[in-house]
Order: sequence, then C-alpha cells, then structure tokens
Amino acid sequence: SKKSEFVVVANRLPVDRVTDGDGTASWRRSPGGLVTAIVPVMQRREGAWVGWHGAPDEDLEPFEAEGLSLIPVRLSARDVEHYYEGFSNATLWPLYHDVIAQPVYRRSLWEVYERVNRRFARAAADVAAEGAIVWVQDYQLQLVPQMLRELRPDLRIGFFLHIPFPPMELFQQLPWRRDILYGLLGADLVGFQSRDAASNFVRLCRRFLDLKTQGHEVAIADRVVRADHFPISVDANELITLADDPDVRERAKQIREDLGNPASLLLGVDRLDYTKGIQQRLQAFTELFEDERLKSGDAVFVQVATPSRERVREYRILRDDIEQQVGRANGLHSELGAPIINYMHTSYTRKELVSLYLAADVMVVTPLRDGMNLVAKEYVACRSDLKGALLLSEFAGAARELHRAFLVNPYDIGGTKNRMWEAMHASPAERARRMRSMRKRVIEHDVDLWAKQFLDALEDGH
Ligand code: UDP
Repeated sequence: SKKSEFVVVANRLPVDRVTDGDGTASWRRSPGGLVTAIVPVMQRREGAWVGWHGAPDEDLEPFEAEGLSLIPVRLSARDVEHYYEGFSNATLWPLYHDVIAQPVYRRSLWEVYERVNRRFARAAADVAAEGAIVWVQDYQLQLVPQMLRELRPDLRIGFFLHIPFPPMELFQQLPWRRDILYGLLGADLVGFQSRDAASNFVRLCRRFLDLKTQGHEVAIADRVVRADHFPISVDANELITLADDPDVRERAKQIREDLGNPASLLLGVDRLDYTKGIQQRLQAFTELFEDERLKSGDAVFVQVATPSRERVREYRILRDDIEQQVGRANGLHSELGAPIINYMHTSYTRKELVSLYLAADVMVVTPLRDGMNLVAKEYVACRSDLKGALLLSEFAGAARELHRAFLVNPYDIGGTKNRMWEAMHASPAERARRMRSMRKRVIEHDVDLWAKQFLDALEDGH
C-alpha cells in the first residue's frame, strides 16, 4: 500500500460523517484551527492522517476525503469507555488541569489506554515511508512516540501536547508516571503550550527517570530529546474574513436588539467543563446585581455552554450546578422578559460564534486552568473595530501572549467582579489601546506560524 512522508496521528480524524437528505453519507472536514493549519502541510507533502472516525465498533478501510488520505483506527465501545472517556478524560484531563476534579486511577483503564495507543502506533508504522516525519497529537496518545520508535527507529517523531502539563507535585500521583514519561521520550521533539509545561517535563524526567538533562534537552540512551514550547493559535485570516461578512455584522446587531440593547453585553463561550470557571464568572456577575452596582437593563450575560463528555459523571453534576445557579440568579435579579443571564446549552457554528463575538462588549474567559484557550484569541482576531474588552484568567495559556487583557484570578470572586466592572466601563480609548496590542500578537502569531515553527524545530535537529 501507499506510504506517506508526513503522517499525523490524532485521536480523531479531521473529518466528520454527514448524511444528506437522500441518506447518502459523505465526509466533511471538521472545523477548527488545528485541522486548518495541518491540512495544507499534509497536501503539500502527500501526508496521511491516522485517527478514529467517530463510530464505535465500526471497521473502516483507509479512504480519501477532502483531498486527504485518511487511515481510520477502530475503537470498540469498550475502548471508547476506557481509553477515551476513562483514562483520557477522567484520569489525565483532571490530573493535567490542576486536579480541579479528582482524577480516577484505575488499572483497567490504563490497560486499555496502553492497548489502544499500540493500535495507533501500529497504524502509523504501517503507513509511514522510510525516514518519514510523524506528528503525534495530544494527551490521548502519549505512549505512541515510544511504541512507534520501537517499531520504526528510522522515523522522525514529534509530539505536541495541547493541554497543560502539571508540576511534579501533581504528576507524581499518577501510578503510571514513568510509563507516560518514557512514552513521550520516544519523540525527538516534545512540544508544549507553555515554557512552564516544558520545564515541568524536563524536571520530571530528571527526578523520576534519573536521566541527564540540560536546559531544554533530555538524554536517553544514545538520543537527545528536545522539549520546548509552541503556543498554538487561531486561523486569524479566516476569522477576519468572517467578521467582515455583512451577514455576520447584521446578525451581531440583531443579537444586541434581541437582548434589548443592553449598555453592556458580556459573553462566555466554552465547552461545559469544570476547568472553564463558568460558575466563578457567573457568581461574579450576579454579585454585581446583589451589590446594586448593576440593575436589570444595565448588563446582560450570554453564556454558551457547549455539551461535552456527558457520559463522565463530573460533567453531568457540573451541568446541574450551573443550571441551578443560572435559574437562581435570573429568579432574583431579572425583570419580566429580560433575564440577566441567557444560558445556551448548545453548540454554535463558527459563523454564529463570530456574530456573538462582534456583539459582545466584554468577552469573559475565566478558566481555572487551560492549555491555551482559543476562544480568547478568536475574539481578539475578530475585533478589528477595536471596541471589545477581554476579561481573561491568568490561568489560561493565552494570558502569556494577551497580557493587555483585563487579567483576573478567577478563584478571587471579589477581584473578578471588580475587574469585570472595570472592563465594562473602560473608555473607548483604553479598549482600543489594549485591543490593538493583542490583535497584533494574534495576527502575527497565527496557527500557520505555530505549525511551521514546530515542524521546523522537528526537522532541524536532523
Ligand atoms: N466552538 C465552536 N462552537 C461552540 C463553542 C466553541 O465551534 O459552540 C469552538 C471555538 O470557536 C474554539 C473551540 O471550539 O475554536 C474551543 O477551543 P478552546 O481552546 O477555547 O477550548 P477547548 O474546548 O479546546 O477546551
């Protein structure tokens, strides 16, 4: 079969199955910056993408779609439960996000994680040409670099972690901490979102594997592995084009009218996840009404909470808590027909999201921990009018680059509400100053540059 010089390995393929009115199924490219950034590289290099196709228990042969060569990996329903919902999202996700929720440590989950990682590694080994570049993505596949190197020592292997990487004191809890570190060290280059994450990794290799390290480098057997940071970004051009679309601008105006043209429209857009600090921001907003600094008509909060991981217990509990909180706040502080919080438990198209970004006076992004947070960068990219304000958590990776945002510690509700108030009342000149500086950063450091810098660094060490 055909071999590829460039192979991407990710939990999901970059396409979704869509069924037309007459029942015929086809594949459409998934939205999102990662796919947008990698697809052109794949097309230039005749690449292949290894990943799950999204249907449990279904076997699929390799296929072509949207000009891409796709290699499906089969997952049984049990694999999805143990490898994906279990070890990835109930163990690693909370552990890597500051243990905001208690991680589940279960050997049966680990065993399936290992087995599924091996399946991905074999699929990549089968499709990669001699000396090919293989780029492995994210926390679901941390063992793949090492497994792949054993099968194919000729390959150049890169790994990128899209989520935070925890400090030693937390990572230490993981019963399989050495396996994960060795797994990652199979790569030639291990990329992280932040400098802190990269140095956590190097420190852990020294401490738990007794390896020699120097700066960004870890020596293992006869190889040197480089760990570095490559903050991911958004497709700024696509967002700017969407934000210029007259339909989108009209829709933004319509949204404000539908909400009664409030003096301030605040917006949150998140997956419904306990890392996002949704409760903290709604609490801060509600207290501004309790304190009588705001009254109905002054400000409206729109919270889009995209359904997420609802088979994991923690997520169902969180949803109930947030819905109770919204109901209570609206019950206490709203006037007839004008809720202070508009809560939407649904997912929006990119076009509709951009309309919301343009309608919002204050974008509220308050994660308790977030690898990057693309929503913050998307908002900034869209606001060529320099009118909006960004309220941003110090604990989002994006805060490193967007330091001209109104920064908050979301654990500090009092501080957050004061900063929220400040952002709502900042002068147009101040908003413009801050926004201009943040836009420069996001436009110069877009997702194409991110992919280029990672791949250059990966090929460099050759
Ligand atoms: N998003 C979307 N529709 C929605 C909500 C979010 O397309 O209804 C997109 C959003 O534009 C962003 C991504 O989902 O590109 C979320 O990325 P982020 O880094 O903010 O958070 P994550 O969900 O990856 O933790």
